[in-house]
Amino acid sequence: MSLCLCVKEETVKAIVLFGSPGSGKGTQAKMLMERLGVPHISTGDMLREGIRQGDDLGSGVAARMHSGALVSDDIVNRLVEHRISQSDASSGFILDGYPRTLAQAEHLCEWLDGRGIREVVIHLAVDYNVIIARLTGRRQCPRCGTLYNIASQPPRVDGACDLDGEKLAIREDDSEGVIRERLAAYERQTHPVLRFYEKAGRRIVQVDGSFDLPNAVFQKIREAVDFDDCSKNGR
Ligand code: ADP
Repeated sequence: MSLCLCVKEETVKAIVLFGSPGSGKGTQAKMLMERLGVPHISTGDMLREGIRQGDDLGSGVAARMHSGALVSDDIVNRLVEHRISQSDASSGFILDGYPRTLAQAEHLCEWLDGRGIREVVIHLAVDYNVIIARLTGRRQCPRCGTLYNIASQPPRVDGACDLDGEKLAIREDDSEGVIRERLAAYERQTHPVLRFYEKAGRRIVQVDGSFDLPNAVFQKIREAVDFDDCSKNGR
């Protein structure tokens, strides 16, 4: 069985989850991955993993991430292209945190168009103050990646992951000054990507993710995008 998505009766295989830091992209991406059975590809996770493993990603990647600035387009484009070319992504994939600049968006569109793959951009729009509260309260399990928030989604036991008991960590770039820099980079470099998609007439779904719990936001995505089993109708 190959699962795919329908947007306005068109089959799409690539989901681009778009939104500012703290908009809930990672949480929704994980829910989509579980529902659709296609890989969740997060450039932030890939870069952090590369640094942990000591990969030769290119110069200054760790320093740029720690300061809240974006990593160079070349490095990220290369990483993503390699990942979405792998066989487990052939029936579809979910991009989280990419594209983040106009050059990345152009690169991705060209790659997808060249293969006849259609995408849908899901824009998670979230109120600025909500974002600040979320990012400053965010905690993550370093082992399984599960996200928590000390205000809105605390773990059952203070400071420990519900799933594996691992001590929860604060991401290095979740300090207040770095959060401000990440949000500034979003406004400056990433928000214009939305205009690019609009002007190019690509499929964009707007979802308000400010005040609902993750399940309710996921429900809104489901209402906007029809999850379908392609094998039933031969698409
Ligand atoms: P958030 O969306 O909360 O900022 P991410 O995990 O997506 O978190 O990204 C963390 C950092 O990784 C970014 O601040 C940036 O330095 C780097 N990064 C992630 N994705 C990209 C990208 N597509 N282009 C450039 N840098 C990126």
